Amino acid sequence: MLKDLPCGLILLYHRLGRPAQDPWNLFVEADLFAGQMETISRFWPVVSVSEGLRRLDQRESGHWVAVTFDDAYREVSELAVPRLQEQQQLTVFACTHEPEREFWWDRLADPALQPALRRSPNPQVAGPNTGSSPRMSPAELAVLARGHEVGNHTHRHLSLRALPEEQQREEIRTARALLEEWTGRPVSGLAYPFGDLACESALDGCSWACTVSPGLVWRGTPRFRLPRYWAPALQGEEFLQWLRAQGLS
Ligand SMILES: [Zn+2]
Repeated sequence: MLKDLPCGLILLYHRLGRPAQDPWNLFVEADLFAGQMETISRFWPVVSVSEGLRRLDQRESGHWVAVTFDDAYREVSELAVPRLQEQQQLTVFACTHEPEREFWWDRLADPALQPALRRSPNPQVAGPNTGSSPRMSPAELAVLARGHEVGNHTHRHLSLRALPEEQQREEIRTARALLEEWTGRPVSGLAYPFGDLACESALDGCSWACTVSPGLVWRGTPRFRLPRYWAPALQGEEFLQWLRAQGLS
């Protein structure tokens, strides 16, 4: 029975909170997140992506959930980590270019400009930090890495497919080297910025990579195209039914 085969479900989060505006649907309320972690804890382990893949490789039975955060905003350590249940582990994908500066989209006065800029090979947006979107510092990532997995989200968060292959490789390699230096841990996984895939030949040194396409992860799922589900704003029984409807049991 397909239902009994080991598999995992990877959830994708970006930010926690309730801002006045959220045009890209990036926020989940912190208390809703806490409730979701509690619901999951009653049925499935929350493991890092690397640990989930290891379980599939070893043919360990059972289903698992991985909880991933892209962009490594400071909310991860301030709001998400304190709301985890015991033994739940996050996977947090961080960029390494000027982490003391906010991402360019967080400094944009008009978010409607974002789609065109995303397609640019190197979007340049002037403007100071708004103060609303701080990112984790190297020291904060080092603390996080003691209990959670830190993954590569590339150096500058460019759309990799807009870049020549050698630059794709450089974006990935630079971030991995810095993250490994900052955290003192190996960094084996990647999440593609904007979900835009890179050439597989640019991924040397990576063991796996997450997309933003929905689906479950099986033993045979291509490791550089791991699917993820955008976390829905559901809680309690509704959230549980949603997880089961994707195939977890
Ligand atoms: Zn991102």
